[in-house]
Amino acid sequence: MSTSDQRPFDVLVLGSGVAGLSAAVHAARSGSSVAVLTKGALAQSTTRFAQGGVAAALAEPDSPALHEADTLTAGAGLCDVDAVRVLVTEGPGRVRELIEFGAAFDRTGDVATAPLALAREGGHSLARVVHAGGDATGAEIERALVAAVRATAADVREGWFTVDVLVEGGRCGGVRAIDPSGAMVDVRAHHTILATGGAGQLFAVTTNPALSTGDGIAMALRAGVAVADVEFMQFHPTALDHPSMPRPLLSEALRGEGAVLRDDQGVAFMADEHPLGDLAPRDVVARAITRRLIDRGLTHLWLDATSITDFTRRFPTIRRACEEVGLDPTRQWLPVAPAAHYLSGGVATDLDGATTLPGLWAVGEVACSGVHGANRLASNSLLDGLVFGPRAVEAIHRSKDRADTSGVLRGLLPVAPPIAPATPDRDGDADGRVDKLRTALQLEMTKNAGVMRTAASLREAAEAIEAISVEADLLATDAPEAWELRNLCIGARALVTSAAAREESRGTHWRSDHPSTSSEYRGRFAIMGGDIRFVPLPADSPEPHR
Ligand SMILES: Cc1cc2nc3c(=O)[nH]c(=O)nc-3n(C[C@H](O)[C@H](O)[C@H](O)COP(=O)(O)OP(=O)(O)OC[C@H]3O[C@@H](n4cnc5c(N)ncnc54)[C@H](O)[C@@H]3O)c2cc1C
Repeated sequence: MSTSDQRPFDVLVLGSGVAGLSAAVHAARSGSSVAVLTKGALAQSTTRFAQGGVAAALAEPDSPALHEADTLTAGAGLCDVDAVRVLVTEGPGRVRELIEFGAAFDRTGDVATAPLALAREGGHSLARVVHAGGDATGAEIERALVAAVRATAADVREGWFTVDVLVEGGRCGGVRAIDPSGAMVDVRAHHTILATGGAGQLFAVTTNPALSTGDGIAMALRAGVAVADVEFMQFHPTALDHPSMPRPLLSEALRGEGAVLRDDQGVAFMADEHPLGDLAPRDVVARAITRRLIDRGLTHLWLDATSITDFTRRFPTIRRACEEVGLDPTRQWLPVAPAAHYLSGGVATDLDGATTLPGLWAVGEVACSGVHGANRLASNSLLDGLVFGPRAVEAIHRSKDRADTSGVLRGLLPVAPPIAPATPDRDGDADGRVDKLRTALQLEMTKNAGVMRTAASLREAAEAIEAISVEADLLATDAPEAWELRNLCIGARALVTSAAAREESRGTHWRSDHPSTSSEYRGRFAIMGGDIRFVPLPADSPEPHR
């Protein structure tokens, strides 16, 4: 049985990472009644783990046009050009606004007026990445936005787990959530913004924290709301393989300073894989490692960074992360494995973040706004949240009520009527089954739907997901952990279905049985109401130029 909160909020924000907090602060500052529901503490998010920074064309000789070109190149022909243009033109203003909210980015001198320090990252044609505390950018952004939201009248509800969106009269009327006492409560709102982040927890090895379980994507799918591009999970090749959660990243910069990947026999293998050896592109390195893990039944290979002489000065954060798990990188090889890092697809939106369900918006990593295409450009995801969170709020304030045929929704609208999800009453104990099933699902996804996929491996994954889903649905508990498990099953099914349908390799989706990119697949697979649909890109979309 659920109870209901009395008043509908103007704007209900689900999630408190960069996207949700940016939306909340804009909505609350402009006088709307706002509630923020988040399943952990307000400052808990993937955002706070972000390291490198935020990409934006902030100073000459950079320009939005150059940033756009780099983003389109990384996206391997599947970006929505209009969405990318929104990202790169509105991005610099949103970064400046964040500085006004109190975020302290690193500068080239000691005074606050010194120019911002700009770093260059892979795929960027020039230095355009602002950062904070060296490699602690996300923590500073989260700190500044939490403080900005706390300074408003927004009703912040920590420890509230959103289960489903409420669908009434063909539109979203709020959400059903589990409050901190375990009671089911309906929270009503005129507009609901999904900002629930990504789904790295679909895999056994991930850089994402335990909260990244794709809840928003599962909620959308249960309500018949369109989801697109979910086969495009970006894997980082070298995460530390250790049970700590999330997995610490061992940056490419280590290999730039001379670290070498070694197999289980100690052999340095990358020179045989690519002319750039250990500095080959991320997806090439991830595949080379994965092939060996599968062939030899291993969980990790090794990164030998013992030749780096000034490790502590050069990589203080990595040194600390290694020490925390009892490893000394100056003397020991580090166990590494590719880790699920960023989901480029998600809930399909127009250029304002509106989804196919009127009254429901999606922003940040949970969304598929079209800015990332088949492969996210480094440091574009924090920017995505900073731009599209406020943009959704501005559209709400313009009285926009439903999606238009722009962005990813071009060619996708109209869609079948939404579904009102039913929340059965379950009141029991799962007796440790939730953890076991979650682990089984993650291992299956890593083995058969991870870095390298084939029709056969995806078929195997699909069968295992179905078996785990049946068990997850039968669990007699309504605890948030059980919902996370069910959500992971729904996300896994969507990813595997899309990956099986895309019989080509493109961006972060690698099919070893279809290793080429095919113009036939220049479009998106969208899932809604249990069906998968292919939506070709408009004929005037720029070709990939890699
Ligand atoms: C190690 C690491 C390094 C990274 N480095 C960078 C970088 O340098 N630059 C960059 O641009 N990107 C980086 N990224 C990616 C970037 O951090 C994320 O894409 C971005 O922070 C996502 O923001 P978000 O607001 O969409 O979601 P999140 O920050 O994940 O926030 C989601 C929120 O939703 C809440 N939530 C989820 N489900 C529910 C539910 N059912 N009910 C209620 N609340 C819920 C969560 O508790 C959380 O508060 C990195 C990611 C990782 C993991």
